[in-house]
Amino acid sequence: MYYSTDLQAFRRISTAVAASAALLFVLVGASAESVGLLGELVVDSDFAGGSGKVVEIDQAARLIRIEPTTHESRGWACWWYVRISGIEPGEEISLEVGPEPWATPVQASYSIDNETWQQTTPGTSVGRKIIYRQKVGTATAWFAWGPPFTEADAGELVRQTAAGSKDVHAFALCETRGGREVPALRFEARTSQPRSAVWVQARQHAWEAGSSWVCQGFIDWLVSNDPRAERLRNNTTVTVVPIMDVDNVAIGAGGKNQVPQDHNRDWSEKPHWPSVASAMQELRRYDESGQLDLFIDLHNPGASTKRPFYFVAPRNLMTDMRQRNLDRFLAASRIEMTGPLQFLGEIRESGPAYDPGWRQISKNWVTLNTREHVVAATLETAWNTPNSTIAGYQTVGRQLGLAIERYLQLDPRTASPDKK
Ligand SMILES: [Zn+2]
Repeated sequence: MYYSTDLQAFRRISTAVAASAALLFVLVGASAESVGLLGELVVDSDFAGGSGKVVEIDQAARLIRIEPTTHESRGWACWWYVRISGIEPGEEISLEVGPEPWATPVQASYSIDNETWQQTTPGTSVGRKIIYRQKVGTATAWFAWGPPFTEADAGELVRQTAAGSKDVHAFALCETRGGREVPALRFEARTSQPRSAVWVQARQHAWEAGSSWVCQGFIDWLVSNDPRAERLRNNTTVTVVPIMDVDNVAIGAGGKNQVPQDHNRDWSEKPHWPSVASAMQELRRYDESGQLDLFIDLHNPGASTKRPFYFVAPRNLMTDMRQRNLDRFLAASRIEMTGPLQFLGEIRESGPAYDPGWRQISKNWVTLNTREHVVAATLETAWNTPNSTIAGYQTVGRQLGLAIERYLQLDPRTASPDKK
C-alpha cells in the first residue's frame, strides 16, 4: 500500500503550489535549479504518471516542444503528462507534441490544480506534430494527452467506495511484477445465493487513461441510489478493476505492445502478467460455479474513432445462445448509451485476421473458455472528441451500468424474465 500516502502527499503539495503563487516563490527558492526562475518556462514530468521529454523550449516565443518519454520495452510512447511552471499568469503559451501516432489529440487536457481538467482549444497540426496554444491564468499548469487517472486515483477510488458501503470490499487483485498492488472492488450480492457475476476491468493498456474514467463512472453509478443500480447490486456480484497495468501507469509508460507481450495478448495458459493471471483465475472460479454472466474490458481506440464501439469475438466461434445473448447486450447498450458519446450499434470482430495472438485477447479468451451463456466484449470509448472529458467518460460508464442492468433483467441462461 506504499503507493497511496506518498502520492497523496505529493498531490496536496502540488495543489497548494497551484493555488498560491506566493508559496511557489518559497518552493522555487528551496529548489531553484529544478524549478527555475519566474518568467522562464520550465517543464518537468518527475511525478507519478508523468511523461514528457523536452525537445526544446523557446523562451522568447513561449513555445515548448516535447515528446512522450520513451521507456524501453514498455510499449508505445503515446502518453504524455507534464507540469509547466514559470508561466506569466494570463499569457498564452504554445506546446508542441509529437511525433508518435496517437499522442496528438485535437484537444489536449490541461489543469491549474492537477485535479480538475479541461480541454485546450483545438491544436494546429504541423506534419505529425500538433501545437496547442493555451492561455493560462496561473504560474503553474499541467498538460496531458487526456485527463490523467493515476495509480493513486485507483487506490483512492477503491478505498472511498469500500468505506461507503458494507457490501463493497476493497481488495488487491495481485501484486505486480514491479511490486505494486492492483486495487480492485467487489460488490457482494445481497441475496444468500447470488446467481450472477459480472467482471469489469480497465487499463490493460496504460496510456488509455479515459477507460479508467469510464470505469469510475460505472462505479459511481453502481453505488448510487438509482433503483436500477440497487437492483443490480442486490442480485449480482460485480468485480471492478480500474487499472490492470499499474506498473506502466505509475511510470507514465504506454504499455501497448510492450515486451514480452501486451497485457491484452497475455490471456494464455501461462500468463506473464500477474494481473492477467489473477483475473483469469477469478473468472474461471465464477464460471465453474455457474455465476459468470458478463465480462467487459474497457479501452480507448484509435485516434479517428468518434464514437464508442465494441470489439467482440468472431461470431462463428459462438453458439447460438452466446450470439443471442451478445445481441441482447448490444441492444441494451444501444438503448442506454445515448451520448454525448453515443453507441450506435457498431461492433468489430477481432479474430485470426485481426491479430495472430487473437486467442490471447481477454474477451476472446473469456468467450472460448466459459459457459455458452457468457457474454464478453471490449468497450472502446472514443478519446479524440470534445466529449472525451472526465464528465463524458463518466457518462459512458454510468450508461454501461444501465446497459448491464437492462441486459440482466432476463436470465442469460434461459433468456426468460428474471425472478427477483
Ligand atoms: Zn487498448
